[in-house]
Amino acid sequence: SREDVSYFGAGPAPLPTSVLEEASKVLLNYNDMGIGIAEISHRSPEANKVLADTKHALISLLDIPEDYEILFLQGGGSGEFSAAVYHMVSIWVEKCRKRLETEIEQEVATKRLRKKVMEGLKLDYLVTGSWSLKASQEAARLVGAEHVNIALDARKDNDGKFGKIPAEDQWSLTPTKREDGQGPAMVYYCDNETVDGVEFPSFPASLESKSENDDRLVVADMSSNFISRKVDVRKYAVIFGGAQKNIGNTGITIIILRKSLLPPQSELASPQLLRSLGLPIGPVVLDWPTIAKNNSLYNTLPIFDVWVAGRVMQGLNNTYQAKKILGQEGISQKKSDMIYGVLDKYPNVYKVVPDKSVRSRMNICVRIHGADPEKEKEFLDGASKSNLLGLKGHRSVGGVRVSNYNAVPIPAVEKLTEYLESYARKSA
Ligand code: PMP
Repeated sequence: SREDVSYFGAGPAPLPTSVLEEASKVLLNYNDMGIGIAEISHRSPEANKVLADTKHALISLLDIPEDYEILFLQGGGSGEFSAAVYHMVSIWVEKCRKRLETEIEQEVATKRLRKKVMEGLKLDYLVTGSWSLKASQEAARLVGAEHVNIALDARKDNDGKFGKIPAEDQWSLTPTKREDGQGPAMVYYCDNETVDGVEFPSFPASLESKSENDDRLVVADMSSNFISRKVDVRKYAVIFGGAQKNIGNTGITIIILRKSLLPPQSELASPQLLRSLGLPIGPVVLDWPTIAKNNSLYNTLPIFDVWVAGRVMQGLNNTYQAKKILGQEGISQKKSDMIYGVLDKYPNVYKVVPDKSVRSRMNICVRIHGADPEKEKEFLDGASKSNLLGLKGHRSVGGVRVSNYNAVPIPAVEKLTEYLESYARKSA
């Protein structure tokens, strides 16, 4: 039964049992309406309340400032790999167009704009693991590799493998103050690499904006460490994450977006202009301004998924009260310290994959006995017999991965550390 099992899946991932118990009830009968939450209209007052409550829970948990918008979309984290490119390119182009057209007549401006796009459009990516790599590949697919600046490829000087974040002075970010007055359209990074177990220890200092017009528009994928630690939202233009790890079940993506990127403060380039420049135009279901204008209800939003996310976040707010996300941050740290503590005790048996300085608190990647396939299988079989599930590493890298998301309780971590101890002692 559920009580017997400790689950460490990487996503979909465990959800709080109390939320699932309530979910099973509201799926049958929501608010005594005689119909379930997955059956009600996404435009009903009840659905609107679910949406408002969930937004409110997130705002309160992360202290999201008023000049940020929250959007709920579908299409997963991967959908936002594309959406980030569409929007940030469009905003960049529109800024260029405006600047040029104030200087010169329109016909000349269009020619110059084309030249500017060809020569100056850059999207910066910090590639620290397989998800930021995928995001950068999507950018190259959409706008051409010549516009993608891999400001950092962490596999370099590390045997072609992820597991480190080189010092910032080794990154090659596009300068914000270039001669043509136009910096990069964005700088993108993945805060926690789910497959490789690499997490940024904190916000990178070189991405800090030194002044208003020196603004780097930072876009961060927080799919696998969302709501697990304090985040200074103001440092970001956009934060996004799929719900299926720390927040809820699969089906929605949450975006926290600086309102000034939306109309009327920020204009996006017209589809005609983008088309004439050979740049991509995104599908309307991923269009942030459209989603924002429609309170995330442009098309049918899975309200049940929003409800689950809301209950999970309200649960954290209730548990941690005034401490808010710092309460969860403390617990996440404690649980990951417990796990790394045992792993480090037995270096002849366990080898944590990433460098100590960038170890993820959420996805703990480890090899056993020098990545011996038989030993790793033995470890996983033994874990499974002890009802410790979801520990297999991602198919692309193998090994063992412990996902330590918010809903993994301390007793589950204790059972795991006992198993780690006993396996190490037996097989040392
Ligand atoms: N980013 C990260 C960090 C992820 O872990 C994942 C999925 N595991 C994705 C993006 C892609 O998310 P989705 O499968 O929802 O498209």
